[in-house]
Amino acid sequence: MLIVFAEQAVVEVELVGGRLGCPSCRGVLGPWGHGRERVLRCLSGDRLLRPRRGRCRGCLGTHVLLPDLCLSRRQDEVSVIGMAIEAKVAGSGFRSIAGRLGARAGTVRGWLRRFDERAELIRTHFTRWAVVLDPELGPILPAGSGAADALEAIAVAVRAWVLRFGPGDPWRIAGVLSGGVLLATRNTPLPAVS
Ligand SMILES: [Zn+2]
Repeated sequence: MLIVFAEQAVVEVELVGGRLGCPSCRGVLGPWGHGRERVLRCLSGDRLLRPRRGRCRGCLGTHVLLPDLCLSRRQDEVSVIGMAIEAKVAGSGFRSIAGRLGARAGTVRGWLRRFDERAELIRTHFTRWAVVLDPELGPILPAGSGAADALEAIAVAVRAWVLRFGPGDPWRIAGVLSGGVLLATRNTPLPAVS
């Protein structure tokens, strides 16, 4: 799986032009049909996605090219999940967050639990990204809990990304920097920072 910027036309040009790297071996991906169709629940309503698939010319592995709106194993848009995490760190409970976002309470609880379980992994990963993107960066101060520290590291890394590459949706940037596996499973490693 590879997370790509959402505009389908851009992805097509990059794929055909050999500009997408293989996440397994750093070879070059070429077009290879499509992944399975799926529904993504977005703030603006449900969206039907039919993600492109690429095949590596080096290792011959195939990879689904997920748009940066998505996270692996999650049916909701990354920005919605991000809002839930921010609300939790600000002190809201999962039921009220779910009510506000129009999501199922059990789903929201699942995101928040996974974020908590992965908080230290996420904090370390995004702190590395922050330093790579901004070598002058000062220390990131403790924010009071594992989840709050992880969220703070994400915010600092995203800010450093925006300063360097220009504005974008913060949670989509965070999703890309996580390689799409921000909340995948309890132990899915986050990709190496480079
Ligand atoms: Zn490869």
